[in-house]
Amino acid sequence: MQIEVISTGTELLKGSNVNTNLAAIGRALGTIGRTVHRAQTVGDDREALITAFHLAALKGDVVLVTGGLGPTADDLTRDVAAEFFGMPLVRSGELADNLRRYYRRRHGAGPIPATLFRQADVPQGAAVLPNANGSAPGLYLNTAYAGHACHVFLLPGPPVEMEPILNAEVLPRLTALGDDGGRTLTRGFLVAGGAELLIEETLAPRFRDCAVSLAYCASAEGARVFLSAADAALLDVKFIEARRLFAGNALPEGCLSIAEGLVRLLREQQRTLSLAESCTGGQTAAAITAVPGASEVFLGSVTAYDNRVKSAVLGVPEALLATSGAVSADCALAMARGVRHLLRTDCAAAVTGIAGPGGGTPEKPVGLVYVAAVCGDRETVRECRFRGSRESIRQRSRATALRLLYQLAAGVEPET
Ligand code: ATP
Ligand code: MG
Repeated sequence: MQIEVISTGTELLKGSNVNTNLAAIGRALGTIGRTVHRAQTVGDDREALITAFHLAALKGDVVLVTGGLGPTADDLTRDVAAEFFGMPLVRSGELADNLRRYYRRRHGAGPIPATLFRQADVPQGAAVLPNANGSAPGLYLNTAYAGHACHVFLLPGPPVEMEPILNAEVLPRLTALGDDGGRTLTRGFLVAGGAELLIEETLAPRFRDCAVSLAYCASAEGARVFLSAADAALLDVKFIEARRLFAGNALPEGCLSIAEGLVRLLREQQRTLSLAESCTGGQTAAAITAVPGASEVFLGSVTAYDNRVKSAVLGVPEALLATSGAVSADCALAMARGVRHLLRTDCAAAVTGIAGPGGGTPEKPVGLVYVAAVCGDRETVRECRFRGSRESIRQRSRATALRLLYQLAAGVEPET
């Protein structure tokens, strides 16, 4: 089953809105073993929309269109779809009554703009997909194009309206369309700190001759590995095999970030965590506290930006600051030990570095960051030389702190 998506809206092309509907559709389809074959994004433009319909319906068995069902002149989807699939619009009396009531509730008495009722127009033969959160219903056109059957779903643009209709109306219909054997199941996991290329080098030779396909997605925290197969039993076996290759660096399935994996792991181990952050300014703590349940493991952090805080609060010796400097392995380790002592936690991490753009010297350039982690009786400190903007250096520093903590807590050897 080939599924095509068309996202409409000039604001998506301008970047003033992010196309979250496409991501929501991709995730939702994944839950029924389907994937989007292709997605097109077009502005509120008739010609562009027609071209997109043509491309999608030429081979697509299912076409999902989002946006452009509203009452304003830039909302073209309904009209263009009706014309394209040769299903003339017919005004529904019931929908018109609903709209009238909807309008009165929101705007009170007074004349109703005639354009409101465009949302009561239904391509002849199409099914109406009720919208509990807005005025324009979704529409399902069981139609044909280029000599093959085509199931077209028109869905409203606002995500709060689109998602409930997708789940309640679209997914069950797609499931009911039956199994054409084209179903793919996907399972994935995050490898902490792994470089995409190295991960592929480890995995690809072992998966060459089996009916499982591999995909990778790099992030500042490592790389996500996705395994896809039509056969669920085979996928399960291969999934376990793949994870085993990365030992403790493979985060539990479903953990989308190292912070999530770390909170889960420390909770299981009943260990506590504290942080000391200089150049990341609390970003690592923010990542940890974004995880529900963080309070069970995370006690707190010290943003030790100035050297006076490093020494007065964390107990970093002034002599160390004078000799090695604040951006040094010694200082990072002293900060981590210091905050662990101060807050009496089992584990701690510290970050100190030069995020730039100013402040670099030939010996200590922008991007030089030291990250230390202590956990139980294990300690580690890393010298990192990151490139990129201030923000990307800070993000990568945070990711390194989380990774080192995870690896120490998981009992695997932190790689360099
Ligand atoms: P309305 O009746 O509200 O006009 P509509 O079906 O006509 O709904 P649009 O006008 O295309 O939809 O978009 C309405 C709102 O939904 C806008 O704020 C738009 O940015 C947002 N939106 C549309 N498409 C998407 C998308 N793909 N992802 C995220 N937001 C979207
Ligand atoms: Mg609109």
